[in-house]
Amino acid sequence: MALDVAWARRWARESAAAIAAAKDELMELDRQIGDADHGENLNRGFQAVVAKLDAQPPPGTAADGDPAASPLIADVLKLVATTLMSSVGGASGPLYGTAYLRAAKVTGLSVLDAHGVVALLEGALEGITSRGKAVPGEKTMVDAWTPAVEAAIATADAGGTPEDVLEAAATASAAGAVATVPLLATKGRASYLGERSIGHEDPGAASSAIILRAAVRAAGA
Ligand code: ADP
Ligand code: MG
Ligand code: MG
Repeated sequence: MALDVAWARRWARESAAAIAAAKDELMELDRQIGDADHGENLNRGFQAVVAKLDAQPPPGTAADGDPAASPLIADVLKLVATTLMSSVGGASGPLYGTAYLRAAKVTGLSVLDAHGVVALLEGALEGITSRGKAVPGEKTMVDAWTPAVEAAIATADAGGTPEDVLEAAATASAAGAVATVPLLATKGRASYLGERSIGHEDPGAASSAIILRAAVRAAGA
């Protein structure tokens, strides 16, 4: 299945479903090293995204001049960005919002090739780091997105398909999330715990891996 605007819409919907299913697990992770709201924050945001997608006219039926008539992947990413920014709150709302916004800015094609997927993922990571100033190893969502981007680049350079690139990114992000367990948090709310943040998985890294796995499912892989 081509990674086109329909894929981008499926990605948003698959993300919403997966975040809803993982809500309690994410709340529990955030209860350990934060304020127990990450699952609820993100679920509220993605449910708002689904509501906006549902409210759009079916693709191809809108009046001339309406962006919904010939929407681009970037338009879907922008819709996700603005919706998450206005409805998630906390630290993760602006971080995810900026990730999708930056990804939208670098996603110009109507069908992504392997390097287009890399550009999207790189854009997302740049958005997160420019907003939150975290570097790898600080026990944040950056620790899921950084290995995802690295694996995506390696897979695209090796001649992988766009789906291969997504799969590599999702797998690497999940490993990156698990690898946050022994880390000491030095950014965000978890950093208030100091040494007591060690031994728990970062909720934002966990949700990032869930969202990237949803991108694979949306591609029908
Ligand atoms: P809050 O901490 O305000 O309650 P959330 O619980 O929704 O917000 O999100 C917490 C997640 O945000 C963390 O698990 C971490 O992954 C991410 N995070 C926090 N600060 C930063 C930062 N400066 N850079 C990157 N990610 C961050
Ligand atoms: Mg929280
Ligand atoms: Mg909070």
